[in-house]
Amino acid sequence: MNFMEKEKISQAIKNLDSLFGKNIPESSSSDKKTAALIRGILESKNNLLSEEEEKSLLLLLENIQKNKSLQEIITLFSYLQEMSSQGKNLNPYFVTNDLEKLALMHEYTDEHGVTVAGRLHALGLIKEANKRTAKYLEQKKEEYSGLEIRETLEENAARIRKNLNISQEEWDSYAGQLKYRIDDADTLKKALDLEPQVLDEIREVNKSYRMRLTPYWASLILKADKSDPIFLQSVPTIEMIKNKGDDLPAVASDHSPARLIDQLYPQVLTIKSTNMCAMYCTHCLRIMHIGKKDQAISRDAYRESISYIRSNKNIRDVLITGGDAFTLSNENIKWILSELDEIDHVKTKRLGTRLPVTTPQRIDNELLEILSASNEKKPIRVPMQINCAREITPKSKEVLGKLSKSVSALLDQIVLLKGVNDTKTKMWKLCETLQENYVRPYYVFNCSPRNKQFSHLRVPTEVGQEIIESMYGNISGDAIPRYIAAQGGKIPLHRTNVVKRSKNSVTLKRPWDGSMTDYPDRDPSSYS
Ligand code: SF4
Repeated sequence: MNFMEKEKISQAIKNLDSLFGKNIPESSSSDKKTAALIRGILESKNNLLSEEEEKSLLLLLENIQKNKSLQEIITLFSYLQEMSSQGKNLNPYFVTNDLEKLALMHEYTDEHGVTVAGRLHALGLIKEANKRTAKYLEQKKEEYSGLEIRETLEENAARIRKNLNISQEEWDSYAGQLKYRIDDADTLKKALDLEPQVLDEIREVNKSYRMRLTPYWASLILKADKSDPIFLQSVPTIEMIKNKGDDLPAVASDHSPARLIDQLYPQVLTIKSTNMCAMYCTHCLRIMHIGKKDQAISRDAYRESISYIRSNKNIRDVLITGGDAFTLSNENIKWILSELDEIDHVKTKRLGTRLPVTTPQRIDNELLEILSASNEKKPIRVPMQINCAREITPKSKEVLGKLSKSVSALLDQIVLLKGVNDTKTKMWKLCETLQENYVRPYYVFNCSPRNKQFSHLRVPTEVGQEIIESMYGNISGDAIPRYIAAQGGKIPLHRTNVVKRSKNSVTLKRPWDGSMTDYPDRDPSSYS
């Protein structure tokens, strides 16, 4: 027989009376679930508490007294539940009334009237939910963002600066980044440690496809081969030749009702304002726009496109894109925005760019002021393409922070690419890193089947569905992008979670664990 601490335990229970100073109405009693919990705890069992267990119990009671926190009450009930499940008899210590008083103290002190059973239930749910993200939280430590490898990136930048003879001042400027752009295999060899076979392949592919990396972007490459997501997105590989089908006309060339304009939808259109980008992506849907050489577009051409918009009163949202809209001069961006701001029926504008991650040096104060002034008149959103967390570096973080204050929204339009972002961990990490850096993950595009050159980078639609669906219930809702196939417009690729419909309810599947729930619906036949 133990009961070494029984007297002390009884005294500790008495000390808890009115501990929280809340008036518990005389007639109140525990809710059904808490009453059942207490009954279970006090069911007669065969085994007694050991001396050590008694001491633990005493400590838990004293902790309630000392800390006056509701958490301590819950810890006590958890302990009692655990002891009871181990067949320990708790009757010598408590009567039903003691535990009920404690439970009511919890309920009447909690700001939202949460009961002991309710809180224990919630803690159980969280424990289960945490299992869903445990693997991700472990793996995300190895899936570095550019912010987590700052020193390596600085070392890379120093090496490239030295090898290409770039001064720090030139490195820090957009003009310097363009001046020292890398567009042939020999220059790339100076910047990166390329194996001879990789070098030969690049030389071969460059005969058909041009390459351009800024020295800054090259400094993000950790390993100079196809296993590196930054390399893979920017250095043309031999698969582009092997997969090459027929050269197709530039995308949307049959959707161009006026000079520089692409239009598929009644209220939204695109001005293809340039064919230039600071970095050419190996998976570029506009591979034919980008063509073989940079092309300057005249003010007259812009005027014609603006004139089309002015005469088409349905247009309310104009996307200025390219190529990359931020490769336009500040003067041109200012002029186009001011023309659009003058048109009454244009209500909102977008500028499509990848420069905040490929060449963040471009985002100068003058550009920020231009954007800010136009955004005051009519909102500007900036859709970007950031495909992996490694693209978010201290430098891009800085410019994303500044941009976010100058426009109404930063959006990311991710392209789902094999080897870049085709696992749950890579995509979750990307979307969370974006959100932490002022960017809303907006779309995930299934990589287009149109251009065969990059079919090796495509991911099956089903793999993409698994990845996107896995985010629901596990990461913030507004960090989950919409999954899209672009084929004559944007077609959502999400699977439905409505698995059955009946007259007054629908059966829904919870994406995070596959469990089903009946959701009462309004009868459509009584709705008009
Ligand atoms: S930034 Fe956009 S337009 Fe330019 S190469 Fe990349 S995908 Fe193509």
